[in-house]
Amino acid sequence: MELPTRLLCGTGPTNPDPRVLRAMSAPLLGQFDPEFTSIMEDVMAFARQVFRTSNPRTFAVSATGRGGMEAAIASLVEPGDRVLVANCGRFGDLFVDLATRYGARVSQVTAEWGHVIDPQKIEASLKRTPAKVVAIVHGETSTGMLQPQMEEIGRICQERDALLVVDAVVTLGGVPVEVDDWQIDMCTSGTQKCLGCPSGMAPVTYNARAEHALADRKNPVVSNYFDLSQLQRHWSPERLNHHTLPTSMTYGLHEALRLIVDEGLEARWTRHRRAGDALKAGLEAMGVRLFGDPRHRLPMITAMHIPEGVPDEAARAQLLQQFGIEVVTSFGPLRGRIWRIGTMGYNAELKTVVTVLAGLEHVFRSSGLKIPQGAGGDAAEKAYSPISTNERRPP
Ligand SMILES: *Cc1c(COP(=O)(O)O)cnc(C)c1O
Repeated sequence: MELPTRLLCGTGPTNPDPRVLRAMSAPLLGQFDPEFTSIMEDVMAFARQVFRTSNPRTFAVSATGRGGMEAAIASLVEPGDRVLVANCGRFGDLFVDLATRYGARVSQVTAEWGHVIDPQKIEASLKRTPAKVVAIVHGETSTGMLQPQMEEIGRICQERDALLVVDAVVTLGGVPVEVDDWQIDMCTSGTQKCLGCPSGMAPVTYNARAEHALADRKNPVVSNYFDLSQLQRHWSPERLNHHTLPTSMTYGLHEALRLIVDEGLEARWTRHRRAGDALKAGLEAMGVRLFGDPRHRLPMITAMHIPEGVPDEAARAQLLQQFGIEVVTSFGPLRGRIWRIGTMGYNAELKTVVTVLAGLEHVFRSSGLKIPQGAGGDAAEKAYSPISTNERRPP
């Protein structure tokens, strides 16, 4: 195989730190080798730090981010249970689909794509119709929106005795995700976004309330593969033999989490915020319009309107072929209308931002747009520089 090197600035996978890829090429171990089970223990301990939780049940499902979401819904929902989905994008739609497939009676509170959910709507819905599970996406990658007031949503769910399930696939490791403080009952993520690993595992954590819900089920989980009550016994001293754990992938996750803990979560959040701010400033300086509610934009995914006169597919193909840079469009009503640019994990750096802006400038010019030369990179650099002293890493 002779493959090109790409700058992966779509919505995942993102370029992993080379140390993660190196870890994945280490000699293979069997899944019950004590050398390997100690790696599992480390993964659980690192993941607790990254999720900001003390939940003993913190491990990884052998599947992509979507698999983690499916494990959560499959394991908590029994046919006939009521599930409320707070839905403002494609991954909210996915929660609706999963809950429906597992037999839930699903209701929704919604916001237009490009906006976020009002917690009062969740409260009002639960008052009308109590639900066993409330599912919400913390960072809606399809629209570039970050759901605020998670603490308030957690409080509402506790008060109304609903289990709060949160998709933190794009947000974990990039912005604060406070599992314990926000009273999240079950939180799932994925490896190929801000965790900075190839795709293939889904970190998950859940508290005692969620574990009781698993134990109190009347019927077995319909899915065997995604049954968390079995997987949790695999990720425990019992070492229940469920499936053959992807051990090389687990090395990668171990290294990715270790790097996050080593960098420090606050420093990492700051780095993502600075890179996102720089990219947004650079795009605006080039005359590009950003998409969605400006108060709630994700730092790690920047959504922008495709400028008039720029052909979506041809322009992205040019960016890829000529400069090796990948960016993506979105789904449904936003397909061909917006591009989404990811600055995640290893790529959340000024050098990535400036490279992408330079590539975009070139592509836009070849579509006939008049872009002030270098304006994007200059604005990005300016926006990246400020860092307050309390954000500086201790030496
Ligand atoms: C990427 C993503 C997913 C799906 O993850 P896969 O690894 O592609 O299965 C789910 N939710 C959100 C918010 C995502 O960004």
